[in-house]
Amino acid sequence: MAKAHILGFPRIGAQRELKFAVESFWRGDIDVAALQQTGKTLRARHWAIQADAGLDLVTVGDFAWYDQVLNTLALLGAVPTRFGFDPKKLTPADYFTAARGNPDHFAMEMTKWFDTNYHYLVPEFTADLRFDGGVDWLFEENAEAVALGHKTKVVLVGPLSLLYLGKIKSGVAGKFDLLPKLIAGYQQVLKRLKDAGVEWVQIDEPVLALELDQAWRDAFLPTYQLLVEGAPKLLLATYFDRVSEHVALLNSLPVAGVHLDLVRGPDQLAAFARDWPQDRVLSAGVIDGRNIWRADLEAVLATLQPLQEKLGDRLWVSASCSLLHVPVDLANEPKLDAEIKNWLAFATQKIDEIAVLARALNGDRSTPAVAEKFKAAAEAVASRKTSPRIHNPLVQKRMSELDRISASRQSVFAERIAKQQARFKLPAFPTTNIGSFPQTTEIRQARAQHKRGELGHLEYLNRMRDEIRHVVQKQEEIGLDVLVHGEPERNDMVEYFGEQLWGYAFTANGWVQSYGSRCVKPPFIYGDVYRPEAMTVGWSEFAQSLTAKPMKGMLTGPVTMLQWSFVRDDQPREQTALQIALALRDEVVDLEKAGIGMIQIDEPAFREGLPLKAADWPHYLDWAVKAFRISASGVQDDTQIHTHMCYSEFNDILPWIAAMDADVITIETSRSDMELLDGFGEFEYPNDIGPGVYDIHSPRVPKVEEMQRLLRKARGVIPDQRLWVNPDCGLKTRGWPETIAALENMVVAARSLREES
Ligand code: GLN
Ligand code: ZN
Repeated sequence: MAKAHILGFPRIGAQRELKFAVESFWRGDIDVAALQQTGKTLRARHWAIQADAGLDLVTVGDFAWYDQVLNTLALLGAVPTRFGFDPKKLTPADYFTAARGNPDHFAMEMTKWFDTNYHYLVPEFTADLRFDGGVDWLFEENAEAVALGHKTKVVLVGPLSLLYLGKIKSGVAGKFDLLPKLIAGYQQVLKRLKDAGVEWVQIDEPVLALELDQAWRDAFLPTYQLLVEGAPKLLLATYFDRVSEHVALLNSLPVAGVHLDLVRGPDQLAAFARDWPQDRVLSAGVIDGRNIWRADLEAVLATLQPLQEKLGDRLWVSASCSLLHVPVDLANEPKLDAEIKNWLAFATQKIDEIAVLARALNGDRSTPAVAEKFKAAAEAVASRKTSPRIHNPLVQKRMSELDRISASRQSVFAERIAKQQARFKLPAFPTTNIGSFPQTTEIRQARAQHKRGELGHLEYLNRMRDEIRHVVQKQEEIGLDVLVHGEPERNDMVEYFGEQLWGYAFTANGWVQSYGSRCVKPPFIYGDVYRPEAMTVGWSEFAQSLTAKPMKGMLTGPVTMLQWSFVRDDQPREQTALQIALALRDEVVDLEKAGIGMIQIDEPAFREGLPLKAADWPHYLDWAVKAFRISASGVQDDTQIHTHMCYSEFNDILPWIAAMDADVITIETSRSDMELLDGFGEFEYPNDIGPGVYDIHSPRVPKVEEMQRLLRKARGVIPDQRLWVNPDCGLKTRGWPETIAALENMVVAARSLREES
């Protein structure tokens, strides 16, 4: 009998219960017992969803107060030692201190979990770090599930992934020096789980989806040989990409099962099928754990059937990865259009799909309940293939003519910039902003009231115009050279445009954990993207009418629009990016027609779209650059195109950044002390560049001298004529007083530079 299971369930709760409980605990509104009760309730609910749907095992260990990597550290007793906690007596409050910091200790570093929008806390390796046991939470949770009558499988972040993802802080020569201690720690945990009667442990090694060097590959066999001794059966889970380059390695490991992501890497099945070890379980990740589409059950079953003939009860059915990355339950979307809703599956629905597939494999295909589900899935798939909601002939026509649209500006940069300089007559080291200004409570309230229909359109327009007037006036007073309108009308840089484009939809409760208690609600792109009318022209035109200085139009670029959404899976991502690019191209041209001479197309997510494997980078970069160029190239030479990117490393993708050919790029650099700029200098980046001269993430007002110092550093790397002066990013999370003070200092710094030169 094929078994059904999942790698993990979203812990946050369908109504974000965990978020609210944790935040109340932080504020001191609830005590630790109340917090723990919420955790317990959520876990019980999530296990019940799995068991009731008919999964054979429920997954324990996917719960975390803040992050699964920190939970693993707490379990091993390896929370960073600089906090001074007793590993065995770590309390939830201590745990949160490690995650968030306090006045005496800075927080652990946080970074993106592979190519997801989930952020994990980075382990800190020091000589005094031990792995010899920490809190009992995992064992207690397993006992909880068992007491509720469930058959459990426990999940752990694997030792080599933990080691790979952590950072050496001090006293450790190389990561592998820690491996013996780390293995001993895992052995202890595994032994305790075995003693508790756990039959299966899922051990996640997502680093296997990366291009690992020989030393890392060589570490797997000896590590797992030691781990399996006296341990429960191990299911080694890989996900987020194919691992076919590791076939021989994986086949050599003494584990009882391996999980493969067959959504991201469908072709790897062939590579593995040939020499699949006798007695080894294959967990087939066939349901997409990274997207929200309902599965084509018939097609998935067709993939599974030959596997089952070969493997029999050694075939397990699962989602590609943990369901952490999708919203909890479609049932919380009563307002979603019925036709669109029918195309979707959130975590709870995906569990159902997995269970139904297993039942079908196990001979239940024709029982009414199962047959009914296959029929409904087939109907949904058929409706997606033909629905006019998805397929727009106007967009199709333009896409078919894409080759005839130039993805290049009329002239090369040297000629364009000469015309732009003649037109705008900016001083040396022109000063500007990235876009947003402080979003005060009044602005947020006005937007929310307007959305709820409580504030009439005209009144809303007036309030926003007042705000724009204020923002323009302040910038004039401060003496900035190129102005922005401040983006008061935008709640979110993707949502704002998505709401005005066909092909985008929004959920009411489609929350996905981003980090800690923070959740995001990504929109989803279900159909051909089409711009029915201008989106920003009215605002920009109004803002420009208030000043003689250049006013930048402000758009979100095609790659970012894609990257921060769930994307349709019935065409390649690049097709969708190019459709968005065409819509933006029309907007750019409309802005130009309305007299806007500078247009910024933000691409903060450009870098995070990079695939996990470097081998796949060129393909992505080619279409991502093309999409940007399509959006930007419909204008005359003397219209200046800006772009902006934040929190990025650029050095390894500079040729492509240059190929975007924006006239001006602004980047976040202050926190790297301008060092990020060195690569641009060495590469001799040809176009204008505005390295951020102050960090906008804190209310701290930088001194003139600090910014002067950074600018002098920048001048050492970038020619004076190419250099702009601006903050790192938008100012929407800042307050007005610090904003004005910081920008005033920035303008003084830029002016002093003009005198020096
Ligand atoms: N224009 C946007 C702003 O200033 C850019 C935001 C971003 O880069 N994330 O808010
Ligand atoms: Zn930014």
